[in-house]
This record gives sequence, C-alpha cells and structure tokens, in this order.
Amino acid sequence: MLMNHEVQEQLWSSIQEAFKNVLVEDPRFEENELKRVFGIQSTNGANVHLAPGFGRGLGLYPIFALINHSCRCNTESLESRTDHLLVVQAKSNIKAGEEITTSYLRPDQATFTRRQFLYDKWRFWCACHRCADPTELGAFSAGILCNTETCDGILLPENPLDEHSSWSCNKCNNNISWEKISSLLQEAVQIVEKSENTSDSLETILFQLNKFLFHRHFMIIQVETKLFQQQVERYKNGQLKLTRPSLDRMVQLGLHILQQMELTDPGENSLKTMINEKLVAFRVERACQDFKAGIIKKEHLQKLLLLKQKTMPTNVRK
Ligand SMILES: [Zn+2]
Ligand SMILES: [Zn+2]
Repeated sequence: MLMNHEVQEQLWSSIQEAFKNVLVEDPRFEENELKRVFGIQSTNGANVHLAPGFGRGLGLYPIFALINHSCRCNTESLESRTDHLLVVQAKSNIKAGEEITTSYLRPDQATFTRRQFLYDKWRFWCACHRCADPTELGAFSAGILCNTETCDGILLPENPLDEHSSWSCNKCNNNISWEKISSLLQEAVQIVEKSENTSDSLETILFQLNKFLFHRHFMIIQVETKLFQQQVERYKNGQLKLTRPSLDRMVQLGLHILQQMELTDPGENSLKTMINEKLVAFRVERACQDFKAGIIKKEHLQKLLLLKQKTMPTNVRK
C-alpha cells in the first residue's frame, strides 16, 4: 500500500485534535495504529457511492490500489451500486507488457492544475504522456488565444513538465512568460467567481472567457457543463421553455462538452452518460418541433427515437 510519510503527517494533523479530545478515551484506539490506518485509507482509498442520505464512503481495494495513475489512463473503474464490487475494465486496447493505469483525479483540468493536485495529495510530479505533451494529446485543455493582430494561434507551455516554463504560440513566434500567463488565468478565475449562477450570468462569463481562452480550455468546459446541468434542472422544474433557440443552445453545449470529454477522458463515465441522455432527448424534442413544422421527414424523427431508446443508465464510475 502506498503511504507517503509527509502526506500521512499532513492528514494526521487534521484529525489529531479529534483523537486527543475524544478517541483517546476509547481503549480500542491506539494513536499509532489509527494514524497508520488513516494514512493508508486516505492515500489508497477509492470513493464508494452510498445510498442518498448515507454520506460518502471510502473503500480499500488492495489490487486496485496497486494500479498507478496516468492522466490519460487505459482503464475505467465501475462500482456496483448494490454490493460496491469494483470492476476495472480496459477502455482502449492495451498491448502486452504495457502498464495498466487508472486516474486518481477528474481528468478535465489542465496539466499544471492536475500535476499540482497530484503533488499536493500523493507527493509525485506526474510525467505521463499527456502531461509531457504541450497539446495534452490534442485536448488543448490549457490553450490561451495568441490574440495578436494577425494570429489566431494558441499559446501552450513550451515545457509542460516545468511549471514555470514560458508559453509559445503554435502558429507564430509569440512567446509569453509564465507570470503573464498566470495573470491571465487569475483574470479568468475572477470572471468565473463573479458568476451569479443564472443562465444569463453563465452565458456572459462564457462570452468573456472566449475572448482570450481557447474554446476547449478546461475553465470554459467547466462553465459550459455547469450551464448545461443548470438548464436541465430548470427544464425538469418547468422553468425552461424549450424554444427552438434554447434547444439549439443545449444541443450545441452538450456536443461541445462531449467532444472535449472524448479527448480528456475517453470511455464511459456518469457525467458523459447524463449529458448524452439529455442531448438525445433535446435532439428528439427539436426534431418533433421540426416535424410538426414540416421541416424534416418522419424517417429522421424515427431514427432519433431509436437512438433515444438505446441510451440507458449504467454503473457509476469512480
Ligand atoms: Zn499526468
Ligand atoms: Zn501566434
């Protein structure tokens, strides 16, 4: 079991007070043993999805704990909602001798945020093939628009494994220091933090971010996902009227998010399944409206209805 001493000390300090004040009274608990168990559990545990109202769980799966991390892993982990059995299955072809990998984090973030998170929690600087590639294997999750007068290129880190690396454009000679990039990202964070959680506010934020971030930047995808989920909730509550423009926007958002997720996290996951189900429903609704208006033929509508039947909920991914 992986158990980094430094990480263990950090985690332990957060519950040490509880031990000293309460648990020390219980003879079943010994400080060193509890510290060790807590360290192993925090470093190796996988989230377990419990029934609503039962809080969050952490499960120890000894074989699963042996699998190393990659930001573009080749397996997905499916947990049964009934008995919490964990099934690890390949999500791409794995060659003989190739390492089997999993992901310790949500892979939608950019390299510098993923690497920092992994270092803070597990004390290693990831150098996987996605981290080592400035384009993140074509995902461009950190891309910033070059925005010079004549260039529509994208700024990316020259050396993504050096967090202070300068960034350069993929089309011109523009080269920007990390400090300047960092201040642009701060600006993006401030824009996102201004969100009032309404669809109008989220649309305004997207408009502002799209002025200087590449449209597949992870912050844009996150705001789009929030907007999509929020509109789905509004629709369920009868607050969103499905006009043709609102249906077009939902389909546009859903497709854009799914396309980017295919690059950052190929294979199945619960968010992708939810978006896909809703996307099909919105496309069917749009087709129904178009059919009534005489814009499309019955066959087109039937094809979409068949697609809707095929989208079924599946197990929960870790
Ligand atoms: Zn990585
Ligand atoms: Zn450029």
